[in-house]
Amino acid sequence: MTAVSIKNLTVTYHKKPAVKGISLDIDEGAIIGIVGPNGAGKSTLIKAILGLLPADTGELKIFGIKNTDSLKRVSYIPQKEQFDWDFPIDVSEVVMMGRYPHISFFGRPSGRDYEIVNSMLDKVEMKNYAHTQIRNLSGGQQQRIFVARALAQESDLYFLDEPFVGVDAKTETAVFNLIKELKSQNKTILIVHHDLGKVREYFDKLILINQTLIAYGNTDDVFTPEIIQKTYGGRLTILQKVEQLMKD
Ligand code: ADP
Ligand code: MG
Repeated sequence: MTAVSIKNLTVTYHKKPAVKGISLDIDEGAIIGIVGPNGAGKSTLIKAILGLLPADTGELKIFGIKNTDSLKRVSYIPQKEQFDWDFPIDVSEVVMMGRYPHISFFGRPSGRDYEIVNSMLDKVEMKNYAHTQIRNLSGGQQQRIFVARALAQESDLYFLDEPFVGVDAKTETAVFNLIKELKSQNKTILIVHHDLGKVREYFDKLILINQTLIAYGNTDDVFTPEIIQKTYGGRLTILQKVEQLMKD
């Protein structure tokens, strides 16, 4: 089954295109990386797929249905700076937000919702922090909470925007193991990622963008010096890094 289908997507801010003419189909049951330089339109692409930004042109489908009609099946972890960490809310409340799509408008969380929140906090090893205010967490702990919230939603499709920025190595490994567990349940996970060193280890498939789609395919096929040069504009420092990566 196709998890995400994008046809001719263009998104502009104040008449300036951020992503342009992007078409691609993503099959379910894979971990897909989205890479490209700063300002390439990676976050914009995700937000457009989620219907958080209006598309100028394009047709967006999630599991074969218009994107905005299938959001119940989608979890989203935004880039960290887009979240108000001073908001007075505790850890368990953030994770409970993941259950909202399952709770009716006037309803209250059920016993099962609380059970799920607790078990997800356990999964990310944050059970002892259930009543801690989120502003008092470290970067790694904040990201674990976001992951617990996404898991609590029990979705089929996950979007993570630079989830490992400002996160300790132990958390990165723990989170990536949870992502692999999701994949083993045939879930689809898209991850914006900037550390090219982990690309071959992490992703089955890779989307390389710089406003337009530069390449999309199996990581082994598209993670080549030529395509990376095309994506990053051939800046020497990056190229040197790439040559190093290819040797490892
Ligand atoms: P990336 O996530 O790859 O770093 P973004 O999708 O955030 O890139 O941004 C793509 C382009 O769109 C950049 O040039 C950025 O400056 C611009 N942009 C992003 N968000 C906005 C916004 N809210 N208003 C105007 N321009 C924006
Ligand atoms: Mg971004």
